[in-house]
Amino acid sequence: MTFIIAIDGGAGSGKGTIARGISKKFNFSYFDTGIIYRGLALKTISKYGEDFTDLNAVSEANIFDINSVNESEIRNPIIDKYSSIIASIPDVRKIVVSIQRNFREQSKHHRGIVVDGRDIGTIIFPNANLKLFISASLEERAKRRFSYFLEKNQKISYNDVIKQLQKRDQRDKERSVAPLVAAKDAHLIDTTGINIEDTLDIVSSLVIKKFDDYCDIL
Ligand code: C5P
Repeated sequence: MTFIIAIDGGAGSGKGTIARGISKKFNFSYFDTGIIYRGLALKTISKYGEDFTDLNAVSEANIFDINSVNESEIRNPIIDKYSSIIASIPDVRKIVVSIQRNFREQSKHHRGIVVDGRDIGTIIFPNANLKLFISASLEERAKRRFSYFLEKNQKISYNDVIKQLQKRDQRDKERSVAPLVAAKDAHLIDTTGINIEDTLDIVSSLVIKKFDDYCDIL
């Protein structure tokens, strides 16, 4: 049995930063599930162009190898957009679910795992030991994404970042399969106006409590 922390939230909510910080602090392994959809989007667009069909994306999902994903190629506004389009295709999600669950199998000798995404606490690991749902205001999320793109020399205006975030949120929340929604038993954390150190302190105390309970029943 592995201790599982499920972290879900919208784009730019800070979930990735929290997940990485917690995994480092507690020496847990970390899995960013967005990488799968981003990697798949890149492969599909490269092969079929931006007007690919659902079937094209499904055939790419069937041969997808997460180890072939190059981080520097998947963090840009085009992939932001197409990853969420691909993530709304039900047959793609069916294939991707197993890639995500395999991670627990691969990490069974670890003390714990931190997994972040959109459907981790609801669909992938509904029995996770700790579930967090991270949010922040649209403006704050846009500011974070905008400074990230600036840092990486990616050309996009602040207004376009806002528009893209709204579009992506809408697609992620309204899709028919595994929409972005907080699990009923998730702790809701709003990171608006809270710096990462303070956020990590809040989350760390939840982790310590849950991990102690978990060790007691082992
Ligand atoms: O988290 P990140 O922004 O990297 O995710 C990119 C896209 O992948 C999201 O907008 C979402 O559509 C999709 N995604 C998902 N389920 C996950 C992780 C990501 O639908 N578990």
